[in-house]
Amino acid sequence: MFEKNLRPFLLYIIVVVVVMVGMATVILPLITDYKKIIVIITLTGSAVVFFVLMYHIYDKYIKPVRSAAQVAEQLVNGNYKARTYETFFGDAGKLTTAVNILARSLQEMSLQEKMQENQLRTVIDHMESGLLLIDDKGYVHLVNRKFLSIFGGEKQDYFGYLYYEVLKQEVVHRVVQEAFLYEEMVKNSFTTAIEIEQKYIEIVGAPVVHETNELRGVVLVFHDITELKKLEQMRKDFVANVSHELKTPITSIRGFAETLLDGAMDSDELRSQFLSIILKESERLQILIHDLLELSKLDKVDLKLQRETVDVKQLVEEILPIADQQAKDKEIELSLSFDDDTVIQGDSDRLKQVFINLINNAISYTPVGGSVQVLVENRNDVLDFSVKDTGIGIPEEAIPRIFERFYRVDKARSRNTGGTGLGLAIVKHIVELHEGKIYVDSVHEKGTTFRISFPKHI
Ligand code: ADP
Repeated sequence: MFEKNLRPFLLYIIVVVVVMVGMATVILPLITDYKKIIVIITLTGSAVVFFVLMYHIYDKYIKPVRSAAQVAEQLVNGNYKARTYETFFGDAGKLTTAVNILARSLQEMSLQEKMQENQLRTVIDHMESGLLLIDDKGYVHLVNRKFLSIFGGEKQDYFGYLYYEVLKQEVVHRVVQEAFLYEEMVKNSFTTAIEIEQKYIEIVGAPVVHETNELRGVVLVFHDITELKKLEQMRKDFVANVSHELKTPITSIRGFAETLLDGAMDSDELRSQFLSIILKESERLQILIHDLLELSKLDKVDLKLQRETVDVKQLVEEILPIADQQAKDKEIELSLSFDDDTVIQGDSDRLKQVFINLINNAISYTPVGGSVQVLVENRNDVLDFSVKDTGIGIPEEAIPRIFERFYRVDKARSRNTGGTGLGLAIVKHIVELHEGKIYVDSVHEKGTTFRISFPKHI
């Protein structure tokens, strides 16, 4: 019924009332009526003074101390929001102020701890590498998002399980065992298929050692090194391809030179025939080396384009004499069509290279009697440059690969036309440097259209 804090105060009042009533019952029968009045007034007065004094003690000391004790209890139970009302009277005042300061500090500390925990969790979850924490008994305690994307499943499929129950890869088991055994960092790698794609994963296992030098578990980090492996493979392929491409003309030049020296040079006919082969092969070498150097220049990270205002129509007209001659040699009808205003921002020498390569390819891969059409079309924010031919076309499955270095649909045919297999790789590179896009539309044995969209304002 009464507030809990008021109970002791009421108890004191009852005790005082009982004592006063007791004293009155003992004293009053012994004295005269006149003295009785004085005694009653004195007892009542002292009771009132006593009540006031008690109330003061209760209000200024007992009540704040009890409230502080209750708040301390709440703090112990983890409720850092609890506060006691503050009095400013003596030691009890100091106590309530201190308890509130303590509560505020605890609340702030717990808030900071929570924030740090959240930050740590966010960092762990957004790491580019997979993470797995195993305790000293081999039970999984932590996995992050990247780990799940590599191994699949949900967090609860791993938490609380022994690592060898949930991870099938032998190599992972070995890393864990060696990290426990040697108490030092262990590295290894394995391949796994994620959604039909083969992935290369590097594992680094490190022991988790407590301050007291006690081994507490092992942390495993999984790096996806697929891109790195691909790059390494590309570099190896590139070196092998370059060596192969250089070897063919050099072998031929050497062979014919040796044959000439062995006596063939005495025959006018053979000499002239072999020397023209040597000349042709050395020209091939020169073109190949030129293309390789061009690609290596384009590969440079700090490459700066010589940007200027260029008129695409004018550039195409500048290369026309060579293209015309090639077309005439193969009886191919070469036609041009230009919209008005064909100006873009770009590097004129490099753009010329793009146009030469595409027109050259169109003529090379179109049989005698076919046609090649060059179109420059103005479309709002972009300028489209297209080369359409009625040539041999490109099989659908080969289209994604034609921009790769040294990729050719038909190796012998490309070599016969003097191709290096690098032309389209150079084109793609230059177009990307101009922030343009390249599209291929081809029907096998019917013809091909290459279209490049150049943004006008960059
Ligand atoms: P290449 O020097 O062999 O022409 P490219 O990089 O220019 O090398 O082209 C790569 C391959 O793409 C060519 O070998 C050819 O098979 C195919 N290709 C390119 N352009 C055309 C085209 N217009 N028509 C048919 N095939 C083409």
